Amino acid sequence: MQAVAVVPDKREVALVTQPVPELRGPREVKLRMLEVGVCGTDKEICAFDYGTPPAGSAHLVIGHESLGEVLEVGPEVMGFAPGDLVVTTVRRPCRHAHCLTCRAGRQDFCFTGDFTERGIKQQHGFMTEFVVDDFGYMNLVPRELRQVGVLVEPLTIAEKALLQIWDVQERLRWTDACPGEPMGKGRRAVVLGAGPVGLLGAMALIVSGFETTVYSRDLPDGPKAALVRALGARYVSSQLADARALAEQVGPIDLVYEAVGVARLIFDVLEVLAPNGAFVLTGVPPLGDALPVAAQRLLRQAVLGNQVILGSVNAGKDAFEGAIRHLAVFQKRWPEALAALVTGRYPLGAYRELLLGRPSGIKNVISFDAA
Ligand code: BGC
Repeated sequence: MQAVAVVPDKREVALVTQPVPELRGPREVKLRMLEVGVCGTDKEICAFDYGTPPAGSAHLVIGHESLGEVLEVGPEVMGFAPGDLVVTTVRRPCRHAHCLTCRAGRQDFCFTGDFTERGIKQQHGFMTEFVVDDFGYMNLVPRELRQVGVLVEPLTIAEKALLQIWDVQERLRWTDACPGEPMGKGRRAVVLGAGPVGLLGAMALIVSGFETTVYSRDLPDGPKAALVRALGARYVSSQLADARALAEQVGPIDLVYEAVGVARLIFDVLEVLAPNGAFVLTGVPPLGDALPVAAQRLLRQAVLGNQVILGSVNAGKDAFEGAIRHLAVFQKRWPEALAALVTGRYPLGAYRELLLGRPSGIKNVISFDAA
């Protein structure tokens, strides 16, 4: 079978031929890949900024945003049958007995850094025709989500962030919601970035009751701004409004969900976070020169305003399940906008343009059914 891989030593991105994986253990499931999303992390791996092949392999098969269909299940597999749709988690636990989170199946909070990640760190990924894995890492996706199931993994980033925010903000009376109302009612959220992680995050925030604004570079007459408004959120362009102007338009900013990885923007918006506010960081900024920041002002404001800055990476099973539930809600509420996030479906052979070419669209995917 064919797979898209990087060969870091040769600085090559290439199609490789791999043996079709077969079930080796009773808990394993064999999947036929239907779609694999292309994301910023894949492009960084293809620029050799990131990514590590498995031990003993010169190449790493990339791809971690997947949607597959079950072909075959081992005798101890429960809850999955041939024909089911599945999204597989990305991270696998480290081996250290003292890593309490990995031992508890929460490798998204691994203490040691020795976790592996499919398609990213020491494990081959999903940009290939067939995949075998333990059923414990798989999540069932309803058939109705066939067209958008590939968005589950990028949505898990926001789901994990929100799960943590509810925990953290339990420290105070943060919500106005009565029982049965969405928990974010009465609070204002700003999303930084209008890429797939930002837009899916905005959808999650809106259905969670937040009054939501997306702040991004694109101009307000562009297609992304129109999409944001179609969701019922406000759009503010960073080309026309600086962080102060953003805060004037929004009012007190209770939550920032950052999905751009641009350090300058992050510090500028941190300056306008409201008292008791939380700032969630999910983008991985490129390393670069030190940045001048208003350190004293930011630190004073954080202390005197009880503020929280929370970094969040990867996602656990709870976030995958939350993402699948939310996608079904999004599909009912915004069928067109949700479908419009997938801007292109391409055959495997288009990998070069997708990974190395100029960025275009919102979420482009490799579709194994595309001609
Ligand atoms: C993936 C995460 C992963 C992170 C860091 C992201 O693109 O969605 O699953 O943990 O990259 O490798």
